[in-house]
Amino acid sequence: MSYISMNLVTMFYLIASVCFIQALKGLSSPATARTGNAFGMSGMAIATVTTVALIFKLQAQAATTGGLGFGLVLLGVVVGGGIGAFAAKKVEMTKMPELVAAMHSLIGLAAVCIAVAVVAEPWVFQITTAGVALPFGNRLELFIGTFVGAVTFSGSVIAFGKLSGKYKFRLFQGAPVSFPGQHMLNLGIAIALVALGLVFCFAPGIEPAWTPFIIMAVLAFILGVLIIIPIGGADMPVVVSMLNSYSGWAAAGIGFSLNNSMLIIAGSLVGSSGAILSYIMCKAMNRSFFNVILGGFGGDPAAAAAGGAQEQRPVKSGSAEDAAFIMSNAETVIIVPGYGLAVARAQHSLKELVEKLTHKGVIVKYAIHPVAGRMPGHMNVLLAEAEVPYDQVFEMEDINGEFGQTDVVLVLGANDVVNPAAKDPKSPIAGMPILEAYKAKSIIVNKRSMASGYAGLDNDLFYQANTMMVFGDAKKVIEAMVKAVD
Ligand code: NDP
Repeated sequence: MSYISMNLVTMFYLIASVCFIQALKGLSSPATARTGNAFGMSGMAIATVTTVALIFKLQAQAATTGGLGFGLVLLGVVVGGGIGAFAAKKVEMTKMPELVAAMHSLIGLAAVCIAVAVVAEPWVFQITTAGVALPFGNRLELFIGTFVGAVTFSGSVIAFGKLSGKYKFRLFQGAPVSFPGQHMLNLGIAIALVALGLVFCFAPGIEPAWTPFIIMAVLAFILGVLIIIPIGGADMPVVVSMLNSYSGWAAAGIGFSLNNSMLIIAGSLVGSSGAILSYIMCKAMNRSFFNVILGGFGGDPAAAAAGGAQEQRPVKSGSAEDAAFIMSNAETVIIVPGYGLAVARAQHSLKELVEKLTHKGVIVKYAIHPVAGRMPGHMNVLLAEAEVPYDQVFEMEDINGEFGQTDVVLVLGANDVVNPAAKDPKSPIAGMPILEAYKAKSIIVNKRSMASGYAGLDNDLFYQANTMMVFGDAKKVIEAMVKAVD
């Protein structure tokens, strides 16, 4: 029986890597995102099949476990692939960040498990031969892979809990959790981790230095929790992309240990693109990149609590028909979509409304905030689903200058991204760039109640004299608007 040659493995890994690079390139614009996804799926299929063929070859050559090991690998592919396919099919678009956080946690845990296996029996992975100690370089790679993997695992579990908002457990609450001396504790743990890493890497003898390795892994799990719990409210998008980056570096670290070029390339692509995305998100949220990477940034809990208190102030409200009348008579309308539009799945009705208004001669544009919704690019994906023409969709920096001259802004299920509180230096979201809807001549806001958005803050925009609230589910309200425009 002939097995896959190492030259073929290298060639297929190279093809898969090119597919991943093309995927990232495609995903950088909504117009090419579908092609990018197709490249990503093809690359992953090639990489998985090649790796399974490689394992089959190594297993057959070693002929130590009578084929059971390979059976387990196939079982893993079927069970893991099945769960992934089921979760992806079932998940609602608004729950994507939780799913992504859950998947990151599994990547981190996988990195730790592989590292433990390599430390225990390095000869099985053809890193050394039996009876020979692990070289310093491999120990260092394993230490880094375990450390980053453990932080990614526990940090992602906390992020999952915070994003889902379903669990009563204190650490899973959206609000930041902080205590005195938190930064010093994090620093102390980081120093202890480096010391333990050195003991592990320089330990003499053939037997692995399990004690420093295990203490290091436990401390890294604790550090992951401590880094994420003080982050809350509107800062969570940065956490999701930061954990994405960590999971990539954990995979790359383990790729070095296993001498697997595919893991190194794919891990580095995920790690660096996640880091670049974190940087872009930090800029969008006006946060310091280094504070985020070191952990422990986020809102001041006291300020958040104060800001989150709902005030009893009068608001003007109207019907969907009133809103339709105002928009039909406007020359220019800017639509600001937010999380609520995605919840209501009202993008198709919205497209219909815009077509009717455009038909009446109204110039309509969509304004997209980079963190609107619950995942980066959420609103672009939502509008693309409804096949909204890309030339009607504008990013924040391109459209913010137009709000002052716009007749009507229609805010649909958005809250934090149009909250003028960001201009107040005392607000927990101080400095976060917002879509400047408050500058428009008339503002129409659709949501179901006066409840706050993800950041838990009251929104002055709703109380402005030129704002009209239209209460109700976005889909029903937009459908009523479509009828009224007719
Ligand atoms: P917000 O969460 O600030 O506000 C959404 C609003 O939608 C709510 O106030 C809610 O009010 C309303 N809403 C909910 N359901 C419906 C419905 N069916 N019909 C009509 N309205 C509805 O969303 P934004 O998009 O303005 O801001 C995003 C927030 O999420 C930011 O704080 C961001 O930091 C955070 N975030 C973003 C992530 C990302 O990557 N984009 C990831 C994680 C968090 P009501 O209940 O009264 O209807």
